[in-house]
Amino acid sequence: MNESNQNSLAEDVVVALRAVVGSKRVPLHEPSFTGNEWLYLKECLDSTFVSSAGKFVDRFEIELAAFTGAKHAVAVVNGTAALHIALKLAGVKADDEVLIPSLTFVATANAVTYCGAMPHFVDSDEYTLGVDAAKLRDYLISQTEQRSGLCVNRSTGQIIRAFVPMHTFGHPVDLDGLLAIAHDFNIVLIEDAAESLGSYYHGGHTGTYGLMGTLSFNGNKTITTGGGGAILTNNSKLASYAKHLTSTAKLPHAWEYCHDEIGYNYRMPSINAALGCAQLEQLPAMLIAKRKLFQHYQAAFSAISGLKLIMEPNQCKSNYWLQTLLLGKEQASQRDIILQATNDAGFMARPAWVLMHKLKPFSGCAYMDLECAESLARRLINIPSSPCLALMSTEQSDG
Ligand SMILES: *Cc1c(COP(=O)(O)O)cnc(C)c1O
Repeated sequence: MNESNQNSLAEDVVVALRAVVGSKRVPLHEPSFTGNEWLYLKECLDSTFVSSAGKFVDRFEIELAAFTGAKHAVAVVNGTAALHIALKLAGVKADDEVLIPSLTFVATANAVTYCGAMPHFVDSDEYTLGVDAAKLRDYLISQTEQRSGLCVNRSTGQIIRAFVPMHTFGHPVDLDGLLAIAHDFNIVLIEDAAESLGSYYHGGHTGTYGLMGTLSFNGNKTITTGGGGAILTNNSKLASYAKHLTSTAKLPHAWEYCHDEIGYNYRMPSINAALGCAQLEQLPAMLIAKRKLFQHYQAAFSAISGLKLIMEPNQCKSNYWLQTLLLGKEQASQRDIILQATNDAGFMARPAWVLMHKLKPFSGCAYMDLECAESLARRLINIPSSPCLALMSTEQSDG
């Protein structure tokens, strides 16, 4: 590939981005507060119940459960805390292993270590960008054995207790394949649905298929509470235990402070939940806008060869949290040229995360062959994805 060809792919990408988002500077993903945010925040402040008491946390949890179809939602301080508690409730203990994709945000791996357990990294597939079920099944057949109903890693002797697939950039992973693995190998499945609020797998909301699912409401996610997260589950016992553990394991009493085990101060403050209630009202409109933005990008990028725009998997509905370009294998070497050109032009774009098995804190962890994750990590580029961008390009094309 000569230099002028390289320049032209980067230039094509910049031209396509400009056609969709206009020519001003655009961040990767910014929150929008166009509904009752100010109203509910004022109501929360006026009530003085901004912290552990007040009506907004209960309301946010009820509305989250209603939106996702989960029986219960427990709101917490952030998505990492949600994962930590979900893993703990799944029975993850010191020295256990937990299967997670190497292609994920660091929170998934960090939460495993908070339980004293070790992440065990697994490969992804190019279609969903999530865990490759067929490859994982073959790997577990060759690497593990069942001992008294538990899955044991033969080379380390440790129990593989849980499995946390992730719905990458909002695209649902192959849950049928992964749930079958969890069932067949006696591994608890927890979904990291931090990126997939508003994404559906075969008609059901992501995060409701595993024993538990976790969400994040960080500032860059589809909706935000400033910082926040939630645990989804259909299991009432787990839901009330999650509530108990995330609110310092305090026994209910009018004045006495008695705690029956070591708990965590992980509950979501009411003021964050107030913001969340207003954001949830905006969610359906945001999902429509994000889908529209995908269609605008699809029109702009379809003529460019050497890359493709990631679209929702079959029988799935993605929230299109982060719009994503996948370079062809031959174009991988141009990724950084493209990133430089787009960022120079004011369009924030970024590569996928550095793979987890390459990070220093996880250097001692087990991992399977990661050929696909390695290849994806060299070829993925996230491009500006805020829902407001869809409205902008509509205005442009209408005017
Ligand atoms: C955002 C995110 C989380 C949770 O992050 P917090 O910032 O702790 O809310 C977890 N996993 C993935 C894959 C994420 O993208």
